[in-house]
Amino acid sequence: MSDCFILLSAGKSKRFKSRLNKQYITYKNKPLFEHSLKTALDSKLFKKILIVSNKNINYKNIDVIKGGKERHNSTQNALNFLKNKKIKNVFIHDAARPNLSINLLKKLKKELKNNNAVVPYLKSENSVKYKIKNKIINLDRDKVLITQTPQCFNFQELFNLYKSNKEKITDEASLYLRNNRKIKFITGDKKNFKITTTDDVSYLKSETYYGVGFDVHKLIKNKKLFLGGVKIPFHSGLKGHSDGDVILHAIIDGLLGAMRKSDIGTLFPSNSNKFKNIRSKNMLMPVTKLLKDNNFYINNIDINLICENPKVSKIRSKVIKSISNLLSINENLINLKGKTVEKLGIIGKEQAIACEVICSISK
Ligand code: ZN
Repeated sequence: MSDCFILLSAGKSKRFKSRLNKQYITYKNKPLFEHSLKTALDSKLFKKILIVSNKNINYKNIDVIKGGKERHNSTQNALNFLKNKKIKNVFIHDAARPNLSINLLKKLKKELKNNNAVVPYLKSENSVKYKIKNKIINLDRDKVLITQTPQCFNFQELFNLYKSNKEKITDEASLYLRNNRKIKFITGDKKNFKITTTDDVSYLKSETYYGVGFDVHKLIKNKKLFLGGVKIPFHSGLKGHSDGDVILHAIIDGLLGAMRKSDIGTLFPSNSNKFKNIRSKNMLMPVTKLLKDNNFYINNIDINLICENPKVSKIRSKVIKSISNLLSINENLINLKGKTVEKLGIIGKEQAIACEVICSISK
């Protein structure tokens, strides 16, 4: 007698507006159902794994059968298929819960030693109301159980209950309750949530992009030096159409690159008088607006300031604080490193300062 993991992957996904059934959408670079399949395989708890699916899928040593019209029809098909296969317990799991853990499987298995039905549940984190006819009443949320899957049963008992059932059920636990059978409820796993709508997927899926920025300006006398939006006491300032702030210019290019929005020159043409003598911190505003309008947030920014002087250690905290304010991000997302060039070239002679930056953003 052995245990079987039944993966229900044949749902029609009425709540899921996508050309593909939700079981086949890609989640973390894999079809949704493959996540639970891998967990079941890795757990080594099952002699048999059965996938109920309406798609032609092929895996070594795994049975695949066609699903029914509704979820309970699919379960019925699975139970009929397993009828003479010497199965002790079945673990029935929805493919729409891709974050099933081996730990939860082990806990369920342990409880099956002394129980014929074990079901994981969570307490409600929301206040719950209940509608009876036209009246809405409060429910005590501490007494609300939100059931998850896998729901685990003694095969023969479940088979018999299914055989005599004529009604539509949304999970096996409801069939047990309807027949006044005892269920052992155990605490489920918050991560084992169900993906029900396309919104769930877009909410869960974050796309990350990277952009690199580089800038160099000549140092000239009689100009103030600005780095990262901070005025720095120095013998020279950076020559340029604007205040020549190499750090902010490189950040702007890095962020534009990550957003795939061309470059700083396109956004601020240097032949336009409109931007003459502009403070670079004002050049950041259209870039942060672009980030916001396109739902991007910054993961981190790493900066290499390439110069002999000023010494980065002396200006680091001021510059990071300034960039953090300008971009409205936490200081710990910004890193500033100093790089000297062993007195080589015009940077080594303190006639220019260069800066390179990498920015990571997510949607
Ligand atoms: Zn520049």
